[in-house]
Amino acid sequence: MKIAIYGYGNLGRGVELAIRQNPDAELFGVFTRRDPKTVTTLTGAPVYAAQDVENYVGQIDVMIICGGSASDLPEMTPMLAKRFNVVDSFDTHARVPEHFANVDKAALLGAHTAIISAGWDPGLFSLARLYMNIVLPDGKDYTFWGRGVSQGHSDAIRRIPGVKDARQYTVPVEDALAKVRAGENPELTTRQKHTRECYVVAEEGADKTLIEKQIKEMPNYFADYDTTVTFITAEEMKRDHSELPHGGQVIRCGETGKDGNHKHVMEFSLKLDSNPEFTASVLVACARAVVRMNSRQIFGCKTLFDVAPADLSPIDPADIRKKLL
Ligand code: NDP
Repeated sequence: MKIAIYGYGNLGRGVELAIRQNPDAELFGVFTRRDPKTVTTLTGAPVYAAQDVENYVGQIDVMIICGGSASDLPEMTPMLAKRFNVVDSFDTHARVPEHFANVDKAALLGAHTAIISAGWDPGLFSLARLYMNIVLPDGKDYTFWGRGVSQGHSDAIRRIPGVKDARQYTVPVEDALAKVRAGENPELTTRQKHTRECYVVAEEGADKTLIEKQIKEMPNYFADYDTTVTFITAEEMKRDHSELPHGGQVIRCGETGKDGNHKHVMEFSLKLDSNPEFTASVLVACARAVVRMNSRQIFGCKTLFDVAPADLSPIDPADIRKKLL
């Protein structure tokens, strides 16, 4: 499959590297909204202007869209789904229904297939939540993230006027995590589960009080959390915050038996050295599924819930059964 990358940031670079680990995938090139001459790829892949993307219809099997969730993907994915099969990693959970509807309409118009909200959360964590709910209908779900850099939240801060660079760490409240793992089934508010630490490099002369207020009051991203904002220099950012680790746990505590007397704790856990490289690996697997589903005339917008697991794998179904069942 010929894959193109649309938007070349952390995730775009991760996709470029992940393609090299998938023998059935080939990188067509990278599309950017910046001047292509100013963008150098890690592997020397060609760079094209995003505005010329229509010229490449018919030459690309699937476009992996690597723009930011805050404002890029709601526009990019429907626009591109009319012209290409697409995959994105849209992670604003509250806006998924609206994004799904827009992408579905566009993909159906072009007889294309789209998978949105792929990655680890949403993505593999969503699948874990679904399977756990199927297996333990009587129970309670918990998702903890971090300690790690959330690219979606960092991206959202960077869109605020006066912000030059930003890193946002999501931090689980250890006491809450311990209670869940012990099967205590605690009632936890959003605020009791995580805190958010923001490190911001402001532009010269920017109003830092206003930036801090805009961060702390941002709906969906920060308003429901205890958030700290620390202004640092560009040098400190580079020295102390240049890696992008992440991870977390999906946990479901449930009960079975005549009187609900048997307790079960299911847990799916990730510890990631590089969030974008791991996310990119999920996106490339989804690209394979998109191409296969499109060849079977399964059109429109999908999520990982709609994908047969074997369609994500490069391994032959008989071999999958032999090796992994
Ligand atoms: P980046 O900020 O690195 O990149 C976003 C876009 O910004 C790029 O596509 C690129 O577009 C542009 N850009 C990148 N670098 C520069 C630069 N130096 N100057 C100007 N523009 C630049 O975001 P990430 O790649 O880290 O993350 C993308 C999204 O992925 C996040 O918003 C998040 O929502 C999502 N995500 C989802 C996950 C999941 O599990 N579902 C997990 C991790 C991330 P262009 O080339 O056109 O300029």
